Amino acid sequence: MSAVEAAAPDQVSVTCAGPEITRERGQRQVFCGLAGIVWLHRKIQDAFFLIVGSRTCAHLMQSAAGVMIFAEPRFATAILQERDLAGMADCNQELDRVAAEVLGRRPDIKTLFLVGSCPSEVIKLDLAKAAERLSDVYQGRVRVIDYSASGLETTFTQGEDACLKSLVPQMPQLPPESRSLLVVGTLPDVVEDQFARLFKDLGIGPVHFLPPRHATEFPPVGSGTSVLLAQPFVGETLRALVERGATLLKAPYPFGIEGTLAWLRAATDAWGISGETLESATAPAIARAEKALARQRELLAGKRISFLPDSQLEIPMARFLQRECGMELVEVATPFLDRQLMEAELPLLPQGLRLVEGQDVEHQLDRVRADRPDITVCGLGLANPLEAEGLCTKWSIELVFTPVHGFDQAADLAELFARPLVRGSLLKV
Ligand code: SF4
Repeated sequence: MSAVEAAAPDQVSVTCAGPEITRERGQRQVFCGLAGIVWLHRKIQDAFFLIVGSRTCAHLMQSAAGVMIFAEPRFATAILQERDLAGMADCNQELDRVAAEVLGRRPDIKTLFLVGSCPSEVIKLDLAKAAERLSDVYQGRVRVIDYSASGLETTFTQGEDACLKSLVPQMPQLPPESRSLLVVGTLPDVVEDQFARLFKDLGIGPVHFLPPRHATEFPPVGSGTSVLLAQPFVGETLRALVERGATLLKAPYPFGIEGTLAWLRAATDAWGISGETLESATAPAIARAEKALARQRELLAGKRISFLPDSQLEIPMARFLQRECGMELVEVATPFLDRQLMEAELPLLPQGLRLVEGQDVEHQLDRVRADRPDITVCGLGLANPLEAEGLCTKWSIELVFTPVHGFDQAADLAELFARPLVRGSLLKV
């Protein structure tokens, strides 16, 4: 389901390092944070996500995501029908019953996430208390953690941020005098393995990843932890890690050759490893990536692209497409612009770029219609209407479902944008 928020349209211009940013406020159309469960449940193999929501939430997970996630929609339905305190007390009992049913059936589950939704937030169901209560019941066997993926005031990648932030208090303390590298943001296992090998070749370690593959393997955190962000939408998680003493290594995101090399360089600099070592460890992968990317660049160079605000991946993607694939950026819009997370990315964008934070969807669609870019990156809800108007689109959600990080995926990332253009030109023929 798309969450649509209405607010008074409003535009403000602000500046920072890089291009000028226009803030736009109004109706917006994005997926909610429940979408994150689709990739998080694949990554954390012994976790279970119990959505405390409505039938709508269950339908989102089953149809849009194409997976069956267990949910008890009657909680929310019952709650919405009975807003009194007696109804809420019943709801807690029902939640305990469903949790017992799930955990009885699935002894392999080591972490149970209680995932809040719009309905559970509207009736103010206290999932933190429920998680505490259930943690006591299943002490030593299952960890019960709550987070909100509600579609009110959020965008779909914030679901991952909320989930990872909820894990931070569970992470063990890194012993004093130790140091480690923590890579934050979900990566497909194959990409995680590539990065782990590269860090090993570079002499950086120990390296941990958040989220872990198993909820029983929480990485440690402390004042010796250096954080590299793999995804540009984990700002709340970062701030929770910093509160536990961790330090952010500022870098562009590991998309494309340039971004990946700069990201690795942030780690080698922090570990005092020479530029020559970095160069020799990465040279074979860069040579492969350059060769593969050249083919996609031929298809993309000179093509005009607009990003509608959806995934929070827009800025690093735009940087990669403009600098490494020769594309022309017509407009780059992002739902939220976290200055700290984008500090290393913004200066890499061209001056004069139309950079927009937030959304007023009707105005934005008017601009797309006037600009008629060769390709528009947007959410699923907007893609079909734009295609019907003869505009070529790319679903932004694919960028989180597909392995796109690192040298070996640089050409695959470019191909995600080239494919709709090639298809469009074939259809025209
Ligand atoms: Fe819709 Fe909210 Fe449920 Fe998401 S959490 S599916 S926006 S009701």
